[in-house]
Amino acid sequence: MNKIQNYIDGKMLPPQSGLWLDNVEPATGKCYSLVPDSDSRDVGAAVKAARRAFPPWSSTHITERSAILHRIADVIESRLETFAQAESIDNGKPLWLSRSVDIPRCASNFRFFANLVTSTESQSHHSQGVVNYTLRKPLGPVACISPWNLPLYLFTWKIAPALAAGNTVIAKPSEVTPMTAFMLGELCAEAGLPDGVLNIVHGSGSRTGNALVDHDDIQAISFTGGTATGKHIASVTASKLKKISLELGGKNPNLIFADCDYELMLQTTLRSSFANQGQICLCGSRIYIQRSLYGKFREDFVARVKQLRVGDPNEPDSNQGAIVSQQHFEKVLGCIETAKREGGKVLCGGHQANLSGRCEHGWFIHPTVIEGLANDSQTNQQEIFGPVVSIAPFDDVDDAIEKANESQYGLAATIWTSDLTAAHRVADEVEAGIVWINCWLERDLRTPFGGMKQSGLGREGGMEAMRFWTEPKNVCIKF
Ligand code: NAD
Repeated sequence: MNKIQNYIDGKMLPPQSGLWLDNVEPATGKCYSLVPDSDSRDVGAAVKAARRAFPPWSSTHITERSAILHRIADVIESRLETFAQAESIDNGKPLWLSRSVDIPRCASNFRFFANLVTSTESQSHHSQGVVNYTLRKPLGPVACISPWNLPLYLFTWKIAPALAAGNTVIAKPSEVTPMTAFMLGELCAEAGLPDGVLNIVHGSGSRTGNALVDHDDIQAISFTGGTATGKHIASVTASKLKKISLELGGKNPNLIFADCDYELMLQTTLRSSFANQGQICLCGSRIYIQRSLYGKFREDFVARVKQLRVGDPNEPDSNQGAIVSQQHFEKVLGCIETAKREGGKVLCGGHQANLSGRCEHGWFIHPTVIEGLANDSQTNQQEIFGPVVSIAPFDDVDDAIEKANESQYGLAATIWTSDLTAAHRVADEVEAGIVWINCWLERDLRTPFGGMKQSGLGREGGMEAMRFWTEPKNVCIKF
């Protein structure tokens, strides 16, 4: 059995604990490699390496740091197919998706921050006889912790700005999808990244994650994952005054007005509901439709959803792949049962998809549309993070905003209308960190990315990320 290794101080190493976790292919249900379940000794070795590497890396000229990050992107691009296949096997997502979205975006993450660090302006403030200028200093060894839904995409979204800003990094991918993070470690030396600058430590949240966030020498933590985990990290790091950025769960509303571009809305809503089996934090899972359009939308949407093909992630015509793990598969099916108990009517899907051959024992669920649920039902309030959406009518702009905001979460919202005034008003009043009008998942890497309420703390993206990964130091000169 293949054994994934930790990448510490430029070396591939087994866990000192000798403990390994199974790494399972969701499409087949079979274990195909083992993952280290690292403990505080492995984390300690990684932090030691990162501390030693920090002075030279933080004083490396930005053009050289930038060049190394570009080389990492070059190597990822040169191995795009190998990475895409590994991501699809590990996560269950269709191969066409990892090939066209996930892996190209990993390379873009490195390129974007490689460019940004060489084009960033510094601040200065002038007044009579006094000038202030602000230095932005890297923090030291920092931690990046990421989830399983977009494994290498979200992993590199944190690592790239942290390295660009001059920090050294200890990164922990999800133990559910560790393969491409391991492969990233393998290419670092080839790209010229000095030993110890990036360290990748694998393992469970309870063992490896806890050891990492608890380590006194970790200066800042960027975390993406569930809200409960985020709160735990916030509580254990508070007493040590560590800087944290938390990208957490969501329950995103789609607000569809009767005057929208109907066909574009329908196609996009299909994607925003079920892309990556609904396992994208930005997927819309509460779909509200203006009452006059409700019947037509319900009929057309359900007809399109029924046409989505759930299949082997390797097959190019599979719209939907596997759910990431047995545990998550059971959770999603459990949520559908809860919806039924709450009085929800399942309009399509609602059950496991049974595939044959290679995928006979994989974890597949038919995309599911449910109606008839109260806005305050558990189904409409708790994150499912799977191929399940609920639909409900609204009456007017006020009603749409009220329904959208009746949620503990505030990550993203999507608005469909051709009325500019209504669009701006909803965008202004909806409680979400990211609002899309007449589109979904249009991403400009310069924009602030993150959520409000229980969806997180802080923002990633562009200068927000560079600010997070640096400490401002103001210098005042009187002349
Ligand atoms: P999770 O919180 O279970 O795990 C995320 C990461 O944290 C994993 O690497 C895990 O090992 C680690 N972890 C778990 N417990 C830890 C602890 N005590 N200390 C330190 N690390 C710990 O989340 P998940 O199930 O992997 O991911 C799904 C969640 O991620 C969903 O809630 C989804 O909405 C969220 N998510 C949010 C965004 C966003 O940008 N807001 C993006 C993607 C996913």
